[in-house]
Amino acid sequence: MQPQDGVTVAEHPEALELRAESVGERWHSGAAGVSVRRMERIGITALVPPEVVYACGCSALDLNNLVPESRLVPGDKLCAWSAVWRELVLRREVEIDGLVVVAGGDCYTSLVDAQRIELAGVRAHHFIYPFSGDRRFMREQVEALAEFLGEPEEGVMDEVAELKAMAMQVHRMRARGEVGSEQGFRIEVSASDLMGSPERYREALAALEEAEVSWEHRIALLGVPPIYSDFHALLQEMGMQVVFDEMPYEFIRHTGRSMAEVARSYAGYTFALHIRRRLEFLRKQLRRHRVEAAVHFHQYACHHRLEDPLLRGLCEELGIPYLSVEADLPGRTPEQVRLRLEAFAERLSEGWA
Ligand code: SF4
Repeated sequence: MQPQDGVTVAEHPEALELRAESVGERWHSGAAGVSVRRMERIGITALVPPEVVYACGCSALDLNNLVPESRLVPGDKLCAWSAVWRELVLRREVEIDGLVVVAGGDCYTSLVDAQRIELAGVRAHHFIYPFSGDRRFMREQVEALAEFLGEPEEGVMDEVAELKAMAMQVHRMRARGEVGSEQGFRIEVSASDLMGSPERYREALAALEEAEVSWEHRIALLGVPPIYSDFHALLQEMGMQVVFDEMPYEFIRHTGRSMAEVARSYAGYTFALHIRRRLEFLRKQLRRHRVEAAVHFHQYACHHRLEDPLLRGLCEELGIPYLSVEADLPGRTPEQVRLRLEAFAERLSEGWA
């Protein structure tokens, strides 16, 4: 996921700091020497309802958003996603005031990397998705999250819900080819943290320009978002428009205007549920989006890699050509993967005999 100001972190490490400072505000002394509460910046390790984070007067930073543009090579890693953000925080290249760790419905790799941050002195809270989709359990989790962050003001949730409705509109435009694959992806994937503030996200939505995208194939991107910063642009260059992006779609699909609604909605986050629920959801979405081919993106050392045969089976059942891509470190798409994508696009153009 990209830095939202378009400046790459690797080229300008100070950009990360500036962004951190502009978003993260804390207690400070007002004119009369009275402490005034400013927004605390909360790092999140996976999907955590931004509705609750902002309603509690904090700002969200999805740590994953910093990874694809980073050139940091962590020495001690399994999955590069969590190892890179762990190092960014431990080296204080990014400042956070607190951490919300998704401890259920995510992976042990990120859980351990987050615990290393916690042990280094960052206060942390563990947020758990119910494997069964139990709404009562989800409600308890959402309330515990609010307790960690502060008193929620439900009015703020209306604003977040409205922004997500606008992001859903962008999703539809992308599916019609009225927005480029990469531009649409940036908006959808940033729904996880609203780019650090609802205002900034609203500005990004307003700045989005309509385009007439020429493409040959309607593609679904399944699994974790690509760790390669140019992946969507590359697909588009090859005539493959991503009309369904699984994770970003999940980020914009879930919302709510009250704690109860948020709990109900996020209990259906299929990435955290039994795989049967996710497969049912994907079956419906692949048909609904009239997807012609699917690319499954997964990471070295990630347990989701084991889902590859199940997703392939689903696509075979639907008659959808399927390509599996495994990545490791962030950066631009390696030549070998580029060649495989080109061959895939060519076969699609030839009618996938
Ligand atoms: S890609 Fe897999 S291993 Fe890496 S952080 Fe995400 S879920 Fe965990």
